[in-house]
Amino acid sequence: MKNSETIWDLVDAKKAIFEALSDRVWGMPEIAYTEYRSVAEHTVTLKQQGFRVTENVAGIPTAVMGEAGEGGPVIAILGEYDALPGLSQEAGVAEPRPLPGDGHGHGCGHNLLGSAAMLAATAIKDWLAETGTPGRVRYYGCPAEEGGAAKSFMAREGAFNNVDIAITWHPASFTEVARAHSLANTRMDFKFTGRASHASAAPHLGRSALDAVELMNVGVNYMREHMPSDARIHYAMLDSGGIAPNVVQAAAAVRYAIRARDLAGMLALNERVKKIAEGAALMTETKVAISIMSAVSNLLPNRPLEEAMQRNIERLGPIPFDDADRAFAAKIQATLSENDINNDYARVGVVRKPDTPLCDFIVPLDVRGEPMVGSTDVGDVSWVMPTVQAHAATHAIGTPGHSWQITSQGKMAAAHKGLVYVAKAMAATAVDLINDETLMARAKKDHQDRIGKTPYVCPIPTDVRPPLQPRRDAA
Ligand SMILES: [Zn+2]
Repeated sequence: MKNSETIWDLVDAKKAIFEALSDRVWGMPEIAYTEYRSVAEHTVTLKQQGFRVTENVAGIPTAVMGEAGEGGPVIAILGEYDALPGLSQEAGVAEPRPLPGDGHGHGCGHNLLGSAAMLAATAIKDWLAETGTPGRVRYYGCPAEEGGAAKSFMAREGAFNNVDIAITWHPASFTEVARAHSLANTRMDFKFTGRASHASAAPHLGRSALDAVELMNVGVNYMREHMPSDARIHYAMLDSGGIAPNVVQAAAAVRYAIRARDLAGMLALNERVKKIAEGAALMTETKVAISIMSAVSNLLPNRPLEEAMQRNIERLGPIPFDDADRAFAAKIQATLSENDINNDYARVGVVRKPDTPLCDFIVPLDVRGEPMVGSTDVGDVSWVMPTVQAHAATHAIGTPGHSWQITSQGKMAAAHKGLVYVAKAMAATAVDLINDETLMARAKKDHQDRIGKTPYVCPIPTDVRPPLQPRRDAA
């Protein structure tokens, strides 16, 4: 496959730039909507590579888009660079050792995610120029994947309009085409207001907001028996009304995450939870204010794109890890439980292989694993246009998501190999789409068939703004 080889050479030609970008972003971990330094690194690199750059995408100062090429179809490659709180960790050591500082760390590997996506976009840009092929490629630097739903806001504001296909990936412990299993998810806050009074001298005058929160939680817990078994509801106390038991709590608040298999199921469940909140307010003679903080849709699969991506992964073969990569991965595995490793295999549906700390094989397309029950804002993109997502092995098999072990492995040679590998898989899939009108048409038809009866409606109400964070003074 001549085209594949050309595009892979173009990836190899620039890999050092993007391995270095990934390492720099690893070293400046910034959490949701505070990614000012990380987006600056991505913006400078886009400009150096000759992209036409749009900053402040969808009014979000830590989002950026770079476009290259003329005419033809538009292929979007999606990247991320947000970190997580509490996952600071020294690189390359197999024991928990947080670095000094604010405690943030790249415990989901998004330093790799953004860099590999931009490497793929750069190679596609160079291929379009070298071959004189009409077509455009866009790199989207998307902030706040962790709990910020930035892509959902970007989709709502039209940032992905006129894009034909979206391609992305996520760092993982196995190399495979990602199965489109994710749950639609809403985060909703319930703020109850009552009336304070002396809890002993005048209890009859008080109306307890804390009682309302407790009754709401009890009501929702009773509802669990009567909701779809694959839905998920969890809550956290935002405000329990203070620390004085002798004051009737006049204010209390609870945050809910409500997840369901699809958008329609989630919207129905949201209404039931709201009714329970209103019931709790009625019982306690308090008032409740309900606000949606963020929401994401479930992922839609796209069979033609998944097959195209799988073909490229199989042409590339497994990631070429060496003994040094395996030795460090084995040390990381020694910090994990047997359950961690067994669960990881069960998730992808592959029988456990002995003495295999790193994935040196490719997961077949149609094995049946246990579906992922998390949520991602890539879901909303997949409702707007045909979308495909790869997983490339960048860390030891069994490494839990959101862990110090991921932070520790994020700058290793193995992670860099996964970064370069997946850039090749994504770039070659984009080239196939640009070259093959039938493939493009089949991907669009598959998408249309899935959304036909239920067109995309952004689950975030129009008056809800992303929780943007101010720029801190540069140190
Ligand atoms: Zn992630």
